[in-house]
Amino acid sequence: MSALINTAFSEPELPFYSPSGSECLLFEHAYRNQLPVLLKGPTGCGKTRFVAHMAEKLGRKLYTVSCHDDLTSADLTGRYLLKGGETVWVDGPLTRAVREGAIVYLDEVVEARKDVTVVLHPVTDDRRLLPLERTGELIAAPPEFMLVVSYNPGYQNVLKSLKPSTRQRFIALEFGFPAPEEEARIVASESGLPRDRCVPLVRVANALRELTGQDIEEGASTRLVIHCASLIASGIKPEIAIEAALLQPLTDDPEVMRALVRIAEIAL
Ligand code: ADP
Repeated sequence: MSALINTAFSEPELPFYSPSGSECLLFEHAYRNQLPVLLKGPTGCGKTRFVAHMAEKLGRKLYTVSCHDDLTSADLTGRYLLKGGETVWVDGPLTRAVREGAIVYLDEVVEARKDVTVVLHPVTDDRRLLPLERTGELIAAPPEFMLVVSYNPGYQNVLKSLKPSTRQRFIALEFGFPAPEEEARIVASESGLPRDRCVPLVRVANALRELTGQDIEEGASTRLVIHCASLIASGIKPEIAIEAALLQPLTDDPEVMRALVRIAEIAL
């Protein structure tokens, strides 16, 4: 009977995240000290998973926004919408997170329009206030509110980097790809492919990462290695899965592609 009750009321599962250093501890202390956090690192290396893991661990609701070049401050704060003939104010994810004391995660923040920094500055200084110009409200963030942003320093151009006046408001955590044994363990756990069969895939990914910034813009991410392992686990031949999941997503140039195939063959 007690087992039944335990199952019915069990805690939501903590999203699996394998730490590579003291990032969990630092994040927790940033949260306790009401400091915003900036995550730097290449795509697909675990930043989003880390935030999901930490939000669950800290018992906070998480709002995630994938930023893009059309994203404006109104997309974050909210706007007046027409509902049944009436104009009503609808909070955006940032405003909701501030009101509820939640964590808001702005993924690839540098992609957003420049006016976004105007709303980020007052919530990231010690006033922790969110002014809603349209409604005239000034909302004080509760201690539980936390702002987390990420960006990928790899593919930013000069125009798309964070200004010092913005970045110097954040505690910054650098993310890279996990060490090979650790990455193989993560890939095995996420894909269901036995760990020893994930090891060569990680080796291929690391060989491809060596080429970052030369023939390819970005090397193969952990996400791609997991995709590859999942295809293999469901019955696709390794060489076909490697080409489709690890190599083709990296380039459209046939000559570069041939070079990547050779590199993968050597690494295997
Ligand atoms: P990012 O936000 O950096 O682009 P994600 O967090 O979406 O990358 O990571 C891609 C996938 O890789 C995740 O869904 C997860 O399966 C896996 N992953 C990467 N790093 C880790 C890690 N340290 N622990 C657990 N899973 C990881």
